[in-house]
Amino acid sequence: MLHILDKILALLGPKGVLVEGRSTRATDGWGAQECLAPAIIRPTNTKELSEVMKLCYAQGQKVVTHGGCTNMTRGCTTGENELAISMERMTAIESVDITNRTMTVQAGVSLQTVQETAETNDLFFALDLGARGTATIGGNIATNAGGNQVIRYGMAREQVLGLEVVLADGRILSSMNQMLKNNAGYDLKHLFIGSEGTLGIITRAVLRLRPEMPSCTTALVATDKFSHMPRLLNHMEQALGGKLSAFETLWKSYYSIASRGYNQGQPPLNDQYPFYILIESSGANTESDKPQFLEALESALSQGLIVDAVLAESGPQQQAMWAIRDNIPALDTYQPLVLFDISLPISEMEAYLDDMHRNLATIDDKLFVATLGHLGDGNLHVAVELGNDTKNRKLAIEEAIYLPLQQRQGSISGEHGIGLEKKPYLHLSRSENEIEVMKQLKTLFDPTCILNCGKVI
Ligand SMILES: Cc1cc2nc3c(=O)[nH]c(=O)nc-3n(C[C@H](O)[C@H](O)[C@H](O)COP(=O)(O)OP(=O)(O)OC[C@H]3O[C@@H](n4cnc5c(N)ncnc54)[C@H](O)[C@@H]3O)c2cc1C
Repeated sequence: MLHILDKILALLGPKGVLVEGRSTRATDGWGAQECLAPAIIRPTNTKELSEVMKLCYAQGQKVVTHGGCTNMTRGCTTGENELAISMERMTAIESVDITNRTMTVQAGVSLQTVQETAETNDLFFALDLGARGTATIGGNIATNAGGNQVIRYGMAREQVLGLEVVLADGRILSSMNQMLKNNAGYDLKHLFIGSEGTLGIITRAVLRLRPEMPSCTTALVATDKFSHMPRLLNHMEQALGGKLSAFETLWKSYYSIASRGYNQGQPPLNDQYPFYILIESSGANTESDKPQFLEALESALSQGLIVDAVLAESGPQQQAMWAIRDNIPALDTYQPLVLFDISLPISEMEAYLDDMHRNLATIDDKLFVATLGHLGDGNLHVAVELGNDTKNRKLAIEEAIYLPLQQRQGSISGEHGIGLEKKPYLHLSRSENEIEVMKQLKTLFDPTCILNCGKVI
């Protein structure tokens, strides 16, 4: 290991090899997993990383890529015999092309910087999630992140036009396509999107930008029945004519904790209702969009689909409502806990949740369970307290959550990915043949298993 570190030091200089302070770095979104790597390697561009990977490939040196390390799957867990490859010095916004509506960036730039740069150019980057300030574009692409606007714009995959990747052997695969259409043979970028760093290291990307929407209307509403939520979703989609941009659902169990300390005052709605929905629409008409939104809400109220509602009257009020949705760290008081990220057809959700709660109650009927989700995308997050008997209980809880998914054609991961955390359950959501082909792809791209080895498959 020392030998290869000397060589990397010669390539990248002292700033490129971080030894001091490495172990105090967290490698996941809870800040719980420390980095055990003997060094963190910090290239500044694709060429440098390519040279590093040539060395690692020649010596069989395993590496783990670190973006913002906000993952929820132990995807960046790095052992004592692995080097961490951090993208923290690859943060350049290389260009914004207003005519073609694209942005070309290095993979280590934060999601928030991309969003703000798009905004400065009167454009919009259509990916958003709570960890925006720390998560990197490379990490978002590697996990095919979802987030708050999937219902309108799709997942990270939909926001990527081109990619540059360094392969395990150091070869540079540059597919920096700028067009929406390009059917010249296989579209290789899709292999790397969502592959969680197991097939290659993303170094640059061409991102798709959209026109900025000058009007944005946000409301927090409450409903008293689960079955009203999918009906409300359909109602709002139809009434808003394609302008619905978020439909985030919060169960009472989550809302009552996440809304505590709201904006240093009373939360917009008290916590007496079983379900809350954060609804947002964005459009081009600052005159008519808000009245249209209000009309849609009033109609939902008169149909009994909602029982209470508060409209945000200002930007800060909108942000405060979103802060409740994003306040996942508020669950920290229940640590140790495990956060699930399941997806299933909306029509199956209510019955599934009944089964899930029944199963969990057989383990402990006082277990703390908090639920929230991107219901419009069929994606739910369920946080379950582990308690003292952590190891045995985790297994029982995982089975209570995952096993009923199988008969409903659900998935063990809607958006967070697999990492190490969900690897034992991959077979519940993918067939034998699917997993076999994944393994073949892994062998093709990384024959000696040096990239995030042992993760995902
Ligand atoms: C408060 C909070 C809210 C969140 N909300 C959401 C949400 O709504 N939707 C959602 O999908 N996720 C969410 N997440 C999870 C997380 O933010 C996403 O998975 C995000 O995309 C990870 O980006 P990152 O840069 O932190 O990646 P990391 O955590 O650094 O890495 C994730 C995986 O990708 C690999 N990787 C990282 N960079 C690269 C690269 N350049 N090339 C190849 N592989 C790479 C890593 O090795 C690892 O396997 C949330 C997390 C937190 C803490």
